[in-house]
Amino acid sequence: MIKKKSVVLCALFFLLLVASAAWFWAAGQRQECNPLCFVPPDRDEAVSFVVLHHFSSSPEDAISNFNKFGFSTHYIIDTEGNVIVIVPEDKIAWHAGVSFWHGEESLNRISIGIELQHDNFGQTPFSKKQIAALKPLLQDIIKRYNIRPENIVGHSDIAPDAKPDPGKAFPWQEFAQDGIGIWYDINDADKMENYSVKELLDIIGYNTKGDDLISSAYAFRRRFLPEQVAYEPDMAMRGNAIFEARFKASSLPKGERAAMLKNVPRIHPEDDGTFLTDPLFIKTLRAVAYSYKKARDN
Ligand SMILES: [Zn+2]
Repeated sequence: MIKKKSVVLCALFFLLLVASAAWFWAAGQRQECNPLCFVPPDRDEAVSFVVLHHFSSSPEDAISNFNKFGFSTHYIIDTEGNVIVIVPEDKIAWHAGVSFWHGEESLNRISIGIELQHDNFGQTPFSKKQIAALKPLLQDIIKRYNIRPENIVGHSDIAPDAKPDPGKAFPWQEFAQDGIGIWYDINDADKMENYSVKELLDIIGYNTKGDDLISSAYAFRRRFLPEQVAYEPDMAMRGNAIFEARFKASSLPKGERAAMLKNVPRIHPEDDGTFLTDPLFIKTLRAVAYSYKKARDN
């Protein structure tokens, strides 16, 4: 009888031990959302890129979406110019997704992401306060990591078939004049006459494999010839629809995923690529490629 009682007590004690261990483990897993509810991974490669984005909600909603979908960024700058740190720079943030630039792929591991709040999908001028906050932040990051000007990119540059941000109104030319990123001198165009459109896009850094040639050419126009990119076809909503479809597809088995992604619309509305033969497009592409070639040769 005594023996039986001690066995029961022993079992109860063991159960209590297991239960409290489980409780402590679960408590360790629970993290206050500050602002993220998950812990971003450590970085083990040097930062060599900055990727600019836009988002169209409030910063609070953006953060709640990060927690809902498992995405993140290093910084948010709201329209008032407030800089909010989301992920420390020495951790990896999930902002770039499937991405490519000049031979580098999956840029999250080597980039810092900055999300700019914009109520109109980056189609109308960015707020002065926001630009005034972004410039010194970028200059500081560039200096600290010695980031090359050709590696200051927009999300649409590195994921041209899926992402339209930061949008055609982002003032790339103004930033280049302040030493951030690259602009061009149209008079340099004739120095690159012997290159094809594909070769010129390759020199700049765009992905030109398969269907990505037209997407990349379209992303190029959005950044360097924004007056040629109309609001309607460039709507970020289109990007959101693609994003959602890809997000859904990501949970499917490999075979089904490929089939589903085949039917997902692409970001560029001009699938026939008629703009590829437009003289101003070609001239600008040559001039920009020259600037990038010169920067890389330095
Ligand atoms: Zn983005």
